[in-house]
Amino acid sequence: MTQGIARLEPVRERISRDLHELAEIREPDHLGWTRRVFSEPYRLAREWVTARMRDAGLEVRRDGAGNLVGVLPGRSPAAPALITGSHTDTVQGGGRFDGIVGVLGAIEVARLLRESGRQLDRDLVVVDFLGEESNDWRLSCLGSRALAGELTRADLDRQDGTGAALGGQFAAFGIDPSAALGEDWLRRRPVHGYVELHVEQGPVLEQRGAAIGVVTAIAGIERLLATFRGQADHAGTRPMGDRRDALVAAAEAVLAVERTGCGAPVHGVATASEAANVRAAPNVVPELIELRAEMRSVDTGWLGTARERLAGDIIAAAQARGVDVSLDWITDNEVVQASKPIQDVIAEEAGAAGIAWEAVPSGATHDAVHMARWCPMGMIFVPSKGGRSHCPEEATGLGDIVHGVRLLAATMCSLDARP
Ligand SMILES: [Zn+2]
Repeated sequence: MTQGIARLEPVRERISRDLHELAEIREPDHLGWTRRVFSEPYRLAREWVTARMRDAGLEVRRDGAGNLVGVLPGRSPAAPALITGSHTDTVQGGGRFDGIVGVLGAIEVARLLRESGRQLDRDLVVVDFLGEESNDWRLSCLGSRALAGELTRADLDRQDGTGAALGGQFAAFGIDPSAALGEDWLRRRPVHGYVELHVEQGPVLEQRGAAIGVVTAIAGIERLLATFRGQADHAGTRPMGDRRDALVAAAEAVLAVERTGCGAPVHGVATASEAANVRAAPNVVPELIELRAEMRSVDTGWLGTARERLAGDIIAAAQARGVDVSLDWITDNEVVQASKPIQDVIAEEAGAAGIAWEAVPSGATHDAVHMARWCPMGMIFVPSKGGRSHCPEEATGLGDIVHGVRLLAATMCSLDARP
């Protein structure tokens, strides 16, 4: 722990002012604090972030994938760097804290280091990752995915509802799509570790009275598209006992999804999100239904067995109704473990600062998922009021944010000193 060295104390008013100023740069025609990737307010917000990074003494550049990168040089330019950051885009109708706390917190850490005259041995790299939230191309974590070398040509060929390709949108936003696929200056750097400060987006910390969450792992996601094929008949004439109603079979599947999530041991959830009647009409027995669902857990074993059990339940219920069903599964993210040494450093520093902490899994996906493929990864959570997130009511107390930034600073200093 950083014993013997004065602790870096975040400036409350400065963080508060930054949060307010950035929140004002938003899409006026949408609910809440909307600032979606590639929108004009997003471009303006990143100009604002660039200015704050420069004020903090960071050397600012964009990498090939459109990530905004600020570097606070350390004493040993060749030493593997420390990276911290998050994202400043939001979902439509989103809040003012998701991702934003991690970017503004990282900038505050750089300011504190510079003001205290303390230079780290390693470069401190602050990243505002491009487009973390899912978008019209149904692809999240654009910047961190690219940085980890996981963005593909097929991803850039994805089309939105209007037929526009993601690669074209990159180009329109001033990012060369082929550079986004390549290995540029940032990716060639050796990296010591990545730590992301983020709001919890769930209710656990608040319920347990903890100011900080030390993230143990990030949940893997299994996504399901279930297609039910029954028989279209006249809704007025076909007797009830003689129907092959695809929507009723899908309704049984929705309940099976919920049952599956309720049976999870540690952290496991299951959600049916959408059921579309492809040829819906009020006087026709539903024939073709597309149901979308997902399961998340940090327990890979549970995800596997739950997937098999759910598939069995859905097929059995559909067969009993004479409805055919096909199941397409996609593993969207595998379970990602946070680095145990980084978890230990965060917990130790929280203890030394007298901050109550809890070890918690993350049910939400973060840029940290992709960074973990590249280097040791850790995450620091701060509580979300009422567990609300991805809505205008999303909130985290300023005192909790200050705790988080203080801990991020202490963690970076401690990691800097470790071989
Ligand atoms: Zn986020």
